[in-house]
Amino acid sequence: MNPHIVAIFGGAVSGAEASHQLSQRGIRSVVFEQNALPYGKIEDGLPKWHAKLRDKEEASIDEKLSDPHVTFVPLAKLGKTIDFQDVASNWGFSAVFLATGAWRDRPLGIEGIDDYVGKGLYYQNPFMHWYNHYHEPGYAGQPLVLADGALVIGGGLASIDICKALMMETVQAALANRGIPTNMFDLERGIGKVLEAHGLTLADLGLRGCTLVYRRRVKDMPLFPGETDTPEKLAKAETVREKVLLNAQSKFLFNVLPCHVPVDQIVEDGRLAGLVLRETKLEDGKLLEVMGSDKPFLAPLVVSSIGSVPEALPGVPMKAGVYEVEGGQCCRLKGFDNVFAVGNAVTGRGNIKESVEHGKSISESIAEGYLANPDGTVSEHFRQRENVVSASVDALAERISHMRPPTAAQRVLIEERVKALHNATGYGGSYRAWADANRPLRLEQLLGLEGHG
Ligand SMILES: Cc1cc2nc3c(=O)[nH]c(=O)nc-3n(C[C@H](O)[C@H](O)[C@H](O)COP(=O)(O)OP(=O)(O)OC[C@H]3O[C@@H](n4cnc5c(N)ncnc54)[C@H](O)[C@@H]3O)c2cc1C
Repeated sequence: MNPHIVAIFGGAVSGAEASHQLSQRGIRSVVFEQNALPYGKIEDGLPKWHAKLRDKEEASIDEKLSDPHVTFVPLAKLGKTIDFQDVASNWGFSAVFLATGAWRDRPLGIEGIDDYVGKGLYYQNPFMHWYNHYHEPGYAGQPLVLADGALVIGGGLASIDICKALMMETVQAALANRGIPTNMFDLERGIGKVLEAHGLTLADLGLRGCTLVYRRRVKDMPLFPGETDTPEKLAKAETVREKVLLNAQSKFLFNVLPCHVPVDQIVEDGRLAGLVLRETKLEDGKLLEVMGSDKPFLAPLVVSSIGSVPEALPGVPMKAGVYEVEGGQCCRLKGFDNVFAVGNAVTGRGNIKESVEHGKSISESIAEGYLANPDGTVSEHFRQRENVVSASVDALAERISHMRPPTAAQRVLIEERVKALHNATGYGGSYRAWADANRPLRLEQLLGLEGHG
């Protein structure tokens, strides 16, 4: 029997793949997950209109976490339920993997603006969590209040998802006011088409739509990670970016304001009432702000979607917003011999040449497939993440074999602590039974539209 036991924090794409790679080598892992379910960005970041893709990806995680080599521990948050220093130094695990993803929104960077979170300002991660779950009976999260005419600050795929969600919600509500029932699945095929079928326009509904504010030009938008290292590749990338955006705009009727950055807030009656935006220009590839170009843009709602970074965990060293890892050390956490960051928790990918090469070839296929197959495109991101984790663990497995396995007393300690955590949550030991019992009601089930997505 393999004597090693690895602790993995985070059970989503990266954590589940890491556990799978270890299981295949006969190594036991204990997967600690802060939520009841381990699906991470698939459940709370991938918009719920990707229902089929979500179910497929989650089934893949279920498969990996049901392996007899894996012990799942739900509702166990590193930094809260479990102390990092304690688990890294005292529990006796051969190694600890941080697969905790990136859940902290990058701050908007305007002094004092975060005082208005929930009062005219939302950030992307809580927005998408609410959007994906608010239909659930008994949803206990903070309700978000949407409004027409929002400003969305962003530029990447996730910010387009925010615009889509805002447009679909506001149009659905306006149609309902006219006695026209519709739902997300109809609208996701194209808001324009739905309105046309009723002989209506956005203006007829009294809506102006939300506006995506991006700091560079449309053709610079980070809408796919294709290579741009030759003039030909760059020209191709720019054309794809413009087409992706135009396609999304024509289906979902949102506005785009490129070459602007938010520089100040507008506050009325204790709420954020808009932003002051400044023009930008590109000079020799450098983004410059145009002084004297500031203009107020009133908006009942601002949504910031400018990226996510890992959450700070007490005791875990950070640098430039991500966990600080040693160069060329398989993402080993600085100052710790046995702690490794995998997946979105780290941007550096260690020195694993194959994974980088694999990543590159997938990036190219992403560029090709973007227009034709959005579900396939997102799923390529998940595969890319899995491939990188799989290559990391491949390299780590060899190192783990030279690490100190838990002693007999430490094995008992691990078992006792895991049992105490299971008892505290009522986890009965069967991963599948727990996942089935905790899976939320899906919108398509609620609407009697199973098979959609
Ligand atoms: C719309 C969209 C666009 C995407 N675009 C890209 C892209 O451009 N590039 C790309 O690489 N990928 C992209 N992806 C894919 C995706 O975000 C990631 O590649 C993949 O989901 C990351 O998986 P992960 O397991 O590393 O992180 P996550 O899915 O974030 O999972 C982390 C897990 O850790 C848990 N966790 C967090 N903190 C703790 C804690 N303290 N204790 C215990 N558990 C914890 C979380 O609950 C979660 O289950 C995109 C996904 C979506 C939905």
